[in-house]
Amino acid sequence: MRRILHLDMDAFFAAVEQKRRPELAGRPVVIGGSGDPGQRGVVSTASYEARKFGIHSAMPLRTAYKLCPDAVFLPVDYAEYSRMSLQIKTILREFSPVMEDVGIDEAFLDISAVDRGPEEISAEIKKKIREQTGLTCSIGIAPNKLLAKIASDMQKPDGLTVIGEGDVESCIWPLAVRKLWGVGPKTEAHLSDIGISTIGELAAQPADRLAELFGNSYGAYLFEASHGRDKSPLVTHWEPKSVSRETTFQRDTDRWQEIARNLADLTRDVVQDMRKAGQRGRNVTVKVRFSDFKTQTRATTLPDFTDTLEEIRRAAFQCLGRFELTDKVRLIGVRVGRLAHKEGEGAS
Ligand SMILES: [Mg+2]
Repeated sequence: MRRILHLDMDAFFAAVEQKRRPELAGRPVVIGGSGDPGQRGVVSTASYEARKFGIHSAMPLRTAYKLCPDAVFLPVDYAEYSRMSLQIKTILREFSPVMEDVGIDEAFLDISAVDRGPEEISAEIKKKIREQTGLTCSIGIAPNKLLAKIASDMQKPDGLTVIGEGDVESCIWPLAVRKLWGVGPKTEAHLSDIGISTIGELAAQPADRLAELFGNSYGAYLFEASHGRDKSPLVTHWEPKSVSRETTFQRDTDRWQEIARNLADLTRDVVQDMRKAGQRGRNVTVKVRFSDFKTQTRATTLPDFTDTLEEIRRAAFQCLGRFELTDKVRLIGVRVGRLAHKEGEGAS
């Protein structure tokens, strides 16, 4: 049976700031934009003390200021948070090489092969992170990614929640549908219109009805997810047997043309690298990191091994078209994998 661990840092940006400025410990701290609540910008992270005033991420800084004028407002220091993030991911990789990097303060780790109990693994990870960064995190352990992510959120901060296959009814069904990955405000409203507010109520619906209401693929997803089932693998993609390039935008952007132009340039560079190495590939993956550091990937498999720019670019743009680009984009990357040498040998 699979065992997946999800780690989520507690109020990450705020915690980093409180750690390096001890005078901020115990105070409401709000990180966002340029750190000036008089200017445009939204809250990236609020410390737990600030959350008590109703301040939360994505809220305009001005609103946060109205709720708590005494809060300390600070600019986002990505360089420092990224440095910490790297340290944390390095610690995780010591426990298992199979890691999916979800964003600056979040990761999945496949611990199926780790021969120790959840409490022990969790205690050791938390100890190492605390020693090296002074920060706390919350951990969820479950048979799949879907449940592990829900679990890590259940006892914040500094929590550990273990969910087994038999716990879905008691732990998951009472929760709001919104807690399911992939259920946004639109689906939530749609479900609420037909009298469904909890995951258990969703699970009580026949699969056919959900397919009728939400289409075959999303309907099937909702049915499986509401029963706590999720077979999705960890996306550990950015590994050697592939050629990849990525770029961080000077300024986060939502301009399609700018994103597309960068993707085209990166694809051209990747194809050049492949050709120099005499390689052809079959898998094309596009990675997008949004301004809040959430990272998503979309992948496609080509009918045959290729090093043709046109084919690979078409595949990359097909992947790009499958992202919901509602937020600004911070980074875009493209990767060609399952490489084989020209003669068709050594596919991996
Ligand atoms: Mg977090």
